[in-house]
Amino acid sequence: MMNIGTNIIYLCRVILSFLLIVFAVMMLSCHVSEAAGRISGLRIGQGVSSVRIVFDADKEFDYNVFLLNSPKRLVVDTKNVYVGKALEKTKDKNNLISQVRVGDIYDGKTRIVFDLLKPVVVKKVFMLPPQSTFKWRLAIDVTVASEREFASKTGVNYAHGDKTLSSGKNQTFKNDPQTTTAAKKQNTKKIVVIDAGHGGHDPGAIGYSGVHEKNITLAMAKELKRQLDRKGSYKVYLTRSSDIFIPLRKRVEIARKYKADLFISVHADSALNRKATGLSVYTLSETASDKEAAALAERENKADIIGGLNLYEQSKEVSDVLISLAQRETRNRSSEFAKCLVDQMRKSVKLISDTHRFAGFAVLKAPDIPSVLLEMGYLSNKNEERLLRQESYRRKLAASTVKAIDRYFEDMKHKSLF
Ligand SMILES: [Zn+2]
Repeated sequence: MMNIGTNIIYLCRVILSFLLIVFAVMMLSCHVSEAAGRISGLRIGQGVSSVRIVFDADKEFDYNVFLLNSPKRLVVDTKNVYVGKALEKTKDKNNLISQVRVGDIYDGKTRIVFDLLKPVVVKKVFMLPPQSTFKWRLAIDVTVASEREFASKTGVNYAHGDKTLSSGKNQTFKNDPQTTTAAKKQNTKKIVVIDAGHGGHDPGAIGYSGVHEKNITLAMAKELKRQLDRKGSYKVYLTRSSDIFIPLRKRVEIARKYKADLFISVHADSALNRKATGLSVYTLSETASDKEAAALAERENKADIIGGLNLYEQSKEVSDVLISLAQRETRNRSSEFAKCLVDQMRKSVKLISDTHRFAGFAVLKAPDIPSVLLEMGYLSNKNEERLLRQESYRRKLAASTVKAIDRYFEDMKHKSLF
């Protein structure tokens, strides 16, 4: 009897664990399907007399398609669907579209612009439900037309869903043609955005002798920009070039606006233990690598609360969506760069053990830009503070960072992850 009883209990346990797993998987898939969808691909094909543009997506989404003149563009505004920058790599063999650009307009809307080489008219726009191996698809058929036909069709909306999308053409688009002409010229240059941590009413860490982290980070950011500019192969932007306060989310937006290929946030930590020294490099992770990393992320994320308004919390929902949709690609690339950075820094300065760490830094949450946070050292340590205040020391740190950036982009060329 005992034996049967134990067996039954054992069997029940097995069934229960199985059910729990099934339940967990169901919950997980529900959660995923409830999140915003994403456009996973773009194809440009050729029909008999028309060109078909197809977006692949895992969910149905709202859109508005219309034409704009001077210069000629076909515009697709979308809402609540994640659109990766990878779409920009799509090439058109029909000699109709010179380039594809993806940019944000506010309220969760994304604009995809097709720069046209010839005047076209839109013949048909339709959404197709999943079928066999295909997911949701938005298809747009266009044909080459006369200048007059084109002009007569500009301003016509092919919209579906959200009404605010129909006024799409009046939205301010962060990638205006004016800016992209400039961008085109620098196309071969990699874009690096350097973020000097803290600023304005947020001093960051206070050093051993009272120096403010915000001033050290700004000096370092400027030095790094100077050295990168000198190379001529990078286009470098700073999130701030003076002593001003910028919310963390805004810093991410700046990087996305500039379509950064790499984002580096520069910081210097402080610790109660005044003996703590060494440099470390962080990349984004929901789970911190250890308590120290978690505490540091919390300290850095507090920057947004200092102004009295918790901007970080406001944007948490948004960043959570972004982060859940974050391409694995971006994380891999961030880690690749972190590795390059640690390798170079090892040659010139003292590192903390486990130099590459992970934590949930708000400033690293751009879903499509490889991002790292560099903690140059501890301002709370007398010796390290002295070093960080020295221009020559920062020059050394910047030189190693430049080498790491060179190395990273060189490696990426060969990997072509997209
Ligand atoms: Zn900091």
